[in-house]
Amino acid sequence: MSTMVDLPHHSTKKSLGQHFLHEAGVIERIVRAIDPRPEQNLVEIGPGQGALTIPLLKRLKALVADTGSAAQLSVIEFDRDLIAGLDQLSSNIAPLHIIHADVLAVDLSALAARAPLRLVGNLPYNISSPILFHALDHAAHITDMHFMLQKEVVDRIVATPGSKVYGRLSVMLQARAEVCSLLRVAPGAFRPPPKVDSAVVRIVPRPQDAVGINDAACFERVVKTAFGQRRKTLRNALDGTCTPAHLQAVGIDPSDRAERIDVARFIALANRISDER
Ligand code: SAM
Repeated sequence: MSTMVDLPHHSTKKSLGQHFLHEAGVIERIVRAIDPRPEQNLVEIGPGQGALTIPLLKRLKALVADTGSAAQLSVIEFDRDLIAGLDQLSSNIAPLHIIHADVLAVDLSALAARAPLRLVGNLPYNISSPILFHALDHAAHITDMHFMLQKEVVDRIVATPGSKVYGRLSVMLQARAEVCSLLRVAPGAFRPPPKVDSAVVRIVPRPQDAVGINDAACFERVVKTAFGQRRKTLRNALDGTCTPAHLQAVGIDPSDRAERIDVARFIALANRISDER
């Protein structure tokens, strides 16, 4: 049987994707998967009413007592109505650095001055892709990310070639990071429950020099164009972007479709195209 966490009253804002976690077992599994350590620089996106924040803070406090090191947890919350509650809830546990801002406008690299970031969050689903790409823009300053997303989005992120859901999101993320789906979460774990299943994904950026993309804009354009018309052969879908000779030079059959091409080949193709400019 699952245990529910009592949440103070707050009129949830649909426009901010507010679905607050309240199932203790799920919260515990996420905190365990994150495995926070005091010397790390944790940043939570969208703390809401603190469902993850407070257990993370308590875990850090307990570890700090053992090791004597200084714990740091920062949170970025857009909803002004939630800031005072976060401040109050955290005040008798440990210091919490509360940033009242739209995460998409926050320079994440600037938060990494002390140590690389560990990003966590049960993200607002309506802007989860922009947040993922915003984080990837700062990948050089990020150790890892643990995000709750729509399960359908997590399935797309971790999909491999040949799968029906393998697409632009899979290639763009897997080119820059190791990805792994950790757990599935049913709608009943949230208040109010979302209409969809959710899942937690772990994203670990690769070191910049291991990514191997020569021109990020060219790579993005090739992937976007290839999957823009995923039913077409690559010869046709990429007509105007590259020639069949480019495709063959990196071992791609021009009559193949984007959904069958692995990430390494997309990188090789984009590099071939950009090298010729
Ligand atoms: N972490 C809490 C939990 O698990 O119960 C709340 C998760 S709720 C799905 C998403 C949270 O992100 C909300 O608190 C919402 O106000 C916040 N949020 C929405 N848009 C945001 C933005 N652009 N920047 C920062 N936070 C945002």
